[in-house]
This record gives sequence, structure tokens and C-alpha cells, in this order.
Amino acid sequence: MQQSLLLRSLLLLAGWLLLFEIGWLVEYTSHASVWFPVSGFTFAALLLMGLTALPALLVGCVIITFVSAFHYELPLSNWDIFKGGLLFGIAHIIPYGLGAALLRFLARNGIRDVTRVIVFFLVIAAVSSLLATALVLSSLVVSNMMPLADVAKTWLPFWIGDMAGVMVMAPFFVALLSKLVPGVLFRLTDLSALQPQRHSPHFWLKLLLNALLLTLAMVLAYVTQSPNSAFAIFFLVIPHMWIACSESPFYNVLSVALSSFLIAFLVHVLGLMDFVMVYQFAINVIAANTLFGLALPTLLADNMQLRKVAFTDNLTQVASRDRLEQRAQLEITKARQDDEHFSLMVFDIDNFKQINDEFGHHIGDHALQQLCLIAQHSLRPEDLLGRFGGDEFVILLPKTCKQAAQQVAERILEELQNVRVADVQRLTASFGVAQLSDDEDYDMLFMRADQALYRAKYQGRNCVVQATD
Ligand code: GH3
Ligand code: MG
Repeated sequence: MQQSLLLRSLLLLAGWLLLFEIGWLVEYTSHASVWFPVSGFTFAALLLMGLTALPALLVGCVIITFVSAFHYELPLSNWDIFKGGLLFGIAHIIPYGLGAALLRFLARNGIRDVTRVIVFFLVIAAVSSLLATALVLSSLVVSNMMPLADVAKTWLPFWIGDMAGVMVMAPFFVALLSKLVPGVLFRLTDLSALQPQRHSPHFWLKLLLNALLLTLAMVLAYVTQSPNSAFAIFFLVIPHMWIACSESPFYNVLSVALSSFLIAFLVHVLGLMDFVMVYQFAINVIAANTLFGLALPTLLADNMQLRKVAFTDNLTQVASRDRLEQRAQLEITKARQDDEHFSLMVFDIDNFKQINDEFGHHIGDHALQQLCLIAQHSLRPEDLLGRFGGDEFVILLPKTCKQAAQQVAERILEELQNVRVADVQRLTASFGVAQLSDDEDYDMLFMRADQALYRAKYQGRNCVVQATD
């Protein structure tokens, strides 16, 4: 246990230092990078591991302060640098620690809906990175590592770079670290509907296309040296939304992390420092957009599920009354337009109350399901069987005249002869059939078929009756 904690801390420290180095690669003014992945890593580590991440992060801050003092050739004693490092550590860790604790608290206490967690995460990312900026710049000034006069020009790029680090990289590190470290305190997939899935076969192609577009947009800014061209980078929202809508959460946060790295890298390689704020803002906007996009597949899936629930009868799995009525209106309009026949059949189980009373509701339910299976068997793909309510069903028969509809009903009756309720009692039904006549709407057609059904019951049940015109 102790050993695994030590190993985990060492790995965390190594990862943190490596990322700090990468941040430096894309530094464009003293203490400000295009995007600062370390802040995202710190946030993710504190979110996943809580206080156990603290020693590794603090040691990292002290080590990096020594490296910075060397990098900027600061004339300070080792003791001063050590104190500066501790101060930097506290200033860097406290804001992200508070932000991570708040997010974890919210997720633990009921806010598990993806969209709401994302809104809270974005606000927390903005506020905690602003607080980190204020505290870290103060610590740098207090420990004589940065002149006070530099604060005015540094704070905004510092903040936006840190915010990009949290918004863009923290979700990626959360996804990555929660795969590597067992028993973490928080997982992206804890949130409702963010279940892990494999990527689609075209994912890498989408990523490549995205990288190509990104490079083209940045080369355009490099060639024209015009701020207007720099704004072309915002077009990347489109491929990222495409990925957001079609890929699983992990591959989404991976794609945003890669794009943001490529942007930061190309700013550096192509020397696009004059437009750096445009790129910083673009990274944040794309990340925030993509995060919201994560909720889309969930919403679409929920929507489809709701449609299925609304349009399907739960017990028999045939169409619900709502779907039946919608389809009937559509089919009637089509039949009129194409001058085709259209017929409707209504049927109802005979003496169903008795079946329920004698054998119980469970057997009654089973009889309803059996009847639907048999009826469905006699239908063409374009016909629609639906439950009107109770033991009464409707079948819509496009391009069918009343004689053909009668034959369908008789076929169902015949098939029913082989069915026995609870292996003993016969299952029969009565049918009313009506063909659509001129100037008739669905309600009138249904009423005529229903009256025919009523007459079938009156005539002794287990038969088919044609509606009067
Ligand atoms: P009739 O031949 O005149 O149709 O007689 P009936 O006994 O079938 O009378 P009716 O059609 O009015 O009765 C329908 C019964 O179906 C009443 C209700 O208790 C029962 N029922 C309605 N929905 C369900 C259901 O989902 N499951 C079961 N088991 N019974 C249902
Ligand atoms: Mg009945």
C-alpha cells in the first residue's frame, strides 16, 4: 500500500515535470505559455486522488522553481529559491485543489447530469485558474522572481493559458489517469451516460482531417501575416463538434488535447506570437464547445428511448395508440393522393374478463402477447398493428380493399384456433373491418369499424363483420 503510494507519487511527479517542460516549449513571454497543460494535470490529480496527490505536486513545484531560477538566470540563494518554490506550490495547488474538491462535492451530491457538470466544470476552471494566476504572480513577485511591473502585461495571457490547460487537458488527464490508477475518487464515467465506448473505425481519419485543417488555417495566418486569417482557426469548432457527436467521451477529450497541443506547437514553430491571444481563445472555445458536445449523443439516445417508449406498447411491443393515430392520418392522406384503397380492422378478444378471472392477469397478459404475435404473422411489412387499449387492437392496411382486409381477419381467426390459454381454453376474437370511403377521416373510419366489431360480438363472437358504407 505504502509502496504503491510512493510509486504513484513518483509517477505523478515525473508526469508533472514532463508537462512543465512541454509548457516551456510553447512559452511566448516570460511565465506565459500559449496553453499550460500542468494546470490541467494538477486539477485532474487533485480531483482523482485528493490530498494524496499533494506531496508529489509540492515537490514538483519546488524542483521546477529551481529549474526556473536557472532558466531565467535569477541571482537568488538556494534557500530563497526553496522558499519561493514552496510559495509557488501553495499558490498553484490551493486554487485547483479547491476547484477540484468543489466539483467532486457537486458530483457526489447529486449533480451527475453531464450538462450540469460541464457548466460547473467550465465555471470552476475559469475561476480557479484566475485565482491561481493572482496567487502565483503574487508569489513570484514576493520571492523576487518577477518584477512587479511585469504583472500588468503577464496576467491575462497567464490566466487564459492556465484556463486552457484546465479546460482542455484536465478532462483528458482525468480519463487517462482514471484508467491507470485503480480506485480513484472520481471518474468521468461516474457521470450518467458517459459510458466508455470504443472509437468508430473512422476516428483516426477524422483526427487526421482535423489536424490537416488546423495546420492549413495556421499556415494561412503565417503566409498572410494577417490577424483576420488567424481567426480561421475557429472553423475547427466544426470538425470537433462532428467528433463530439459521433465518438465516445474519451476520444473526444483526446482529440481536443491533441488539437490544442498542435495549435500551441505551431504557434511556436511558425512564430505566430502576434496572434497568440486568438489561438488561446480558440483553444478555450473549442474545448468548451466539445465538452458540451459530449452531452449530445446522450441526449439523442434519450430522445430515441423516449420515442420508443411513447410509440410502443410496453406489454405487447406493438404500436401504441399515439403512433397508430399518427400513422393512420399519414396513410389516409397518401391513399387519397395516390387514389388507393385503405382499410382498417378493429378486433377485441372474446370474454377476456373471464380469462383474467379464471387464470389470473399474468396468463391474461400472455394471451394478449400471443394474439399480437399471431396477428403480426399475417401482416405485410407496410401494415401496422397497434393496441387501442385493453384487449382491443387495430390494424392499418394500406393499399387494401375491404374484401382483402376480410381475408386477413379470417386468416388471423384461423391461426387463433390452434391457440390455447393455459393449455386448456381456446382464444377467440371478434373483428370489424372497414374500407376508407370518400371524405372520411380517421375518426369516422374507426367508428364504422368499431361498430362492425360490436355487431360481431352481438352475432355471437369469433367472427368478422364488414362495416356498412
Ligand atoms: P367481450 O367479448 O365483450 O370483449 O368481453 P370481454 O370480457 O373481453 O370484455 P372487455 O373487452 O370489455 O374486457 C376487457 C378486459 O381486459 C377488462 C380488463 O380487465 C382486461 N384488461 C385490459 N387491459 C389488460 C391488460 O393489460 N392485461 C390483462 N391481463 N387484462 C387486461
Ligand atoms: Mg374483449
